[in-house]
Amino acid sequence: MFEKILIANRGEIALRIQRACREMGIKTVAVYSEADAEAKYVRLADESVCIGPPPSAKSYLHVPSIIAAAEVTDAEAIHPGYGFLSENADFAERVENSGFVFIGPRPETIRLMGDKVSAKASMKAAGVPVVPGSEGALGDDADEWLRLARDIGYPIIIKAAGGGGGRGMRVVHTEATLVQAVQMTQSEAAAAFGNPVVYMEKYLGNPRHIEIQVLSDTHGNAIHLGERDCSMQRRHQKVLEEAPAPGLDAKLRNRIGERCAEACRAIGYRGAGTFEFLYENGEFYFIEMNTRVQVEHPVTELVTGVDIVQESIRIAAGLELAYRQKDIRFQGHALECRINAEDPFTFVPSPGRITLYHAPGGPGVRVDSHVYQNYYVPPHYDSMIGKLITYGATRQQAIARMRIALSEMIVAGIKTNIPLHQELLTDQAVLEGGYSIHYLENKLAARKA
Ligand code: ADP
Repeated sequence: MFEKILIANRGEIALRIQRACREMGIKTVAVYSEADAEAKYVRLADESVCIGPPPSAKSYLHVPSIIAAAEVTDAEAIHPGYGFLSENADFAERVENSGFVFIGPRPETIRLMGDKVSAKASMKAAGVPVVPGSEGALGDDADEWLRLARDIGYPIIIKAAGGGGGRGMRVVHTEATLVQAVQMTQSEAAAAFGNPVVYMEKYLGNPRHIEIQVLSDTHGNAIHLGERDCSMQRRHQKVLEEAPAPGLDAKLRNRIGERCAEACRAIGYRGAGTFEFLYENGEFYFIEMNTRVQVEHPVTELVTGVDIVQESIRIAAGLELAYRQKDIRFQGHALECRINAEDPFTFVPSPGRITLYHAPGGPGVRVDSHVYQNYYVPPHYDSMIGKLITYGATRQQAIARMRIALSEMIVAGIKTNIPLHQELLTDQAVLEGGYSIHYLENKLAARKA
């Protein structure tokens, strides 16, 4: 096992990874920007290195500073967390070429999955169901585009191979606008992602977002940890997640989960990963793979008892997975509310000093957050200040506990989206479960009206 790991991230995930390391007896190195000098995980780290001024480009995204920090502290491995450099294949390569272990997949896997066309093709080849669409990238022949769209059936969606973060997509409802839509998406993709390649797929009208968590070691073992339902989204950003997905039967879970595990074995996947699917009318359609730990990983930890962060560290150290598929039991239900420093109605970010803070507790309550009373939420980064996670024997109990936890939680001095979560946890559709990815946007539009 490693003796010392550098955590190339900030906020709640830096603290989460640090806690995993401490439990495993691994020393930690925190890197931080000048805006995060006061952070709790920086204080708790065995060593810490300031890597630059507040803007991410000059600190958390600045590769030479991070590599230098690993060198001066003699760290053996680097954990990228999520966001920032976590899905940057060039960074993973730099880490490995500098003699450190990258806690995540091999750089070529990150590259393969970072391009949506190659990701989709390789998943299809591995037997994972994908959204019907073009075989790979669209060529130059506009007549071919029209033929293809007619075969797939409108509405269709044009997507950029290099797209991400919900950008680089365009829905087309009729033939009259198709050619122009393809051309516009191509030129936007070239400008935004430096890659004009686009592809076409069927636009699903009312799907749910259901994703499968996997763990895959370097000894040919891969398992799935079931699914998460992340359909509560605003602008393609997840707001509330849960495991298991309401109404999904165990047979279907195991079938799709096994496909994902098999795909991991086929591509020699290393570490923790997530297969994201749209789910409609009982069918799964792969949309992309996240080659890193995700924000919502705790709900899976609570229903399986597996520590995903610790397992990913063990895998990076070359150890065999501590579990086989038959060891994985799904028990109870977990919910996660992302707590953001933002106005609960306008969603305008609300950085600043937290003047009063009280974290909830009690049975089945987990708070993953780096903030504390008098903490200053810097304006430079993502607005998420923590995650409130509840577990119950049943979904109903997890919901009841979440309601209580939200009512106990006090974050004063800044605005948060706690009122939005409180509203969602009394919403009839949420109580029933199984709403689509458009539910929140529609609800917010109605709220405005
Ligand atoms: P990104 O990498 O930008 O997040 P994804 O491929 O994961 O892109 O898609 C983001 C979101 O766009 C999905 O969660 C879904 O809401 C929507 N979307 C993508 N593909 C389709 C599709 N074929 N049909 C309907 N919605 C889609």
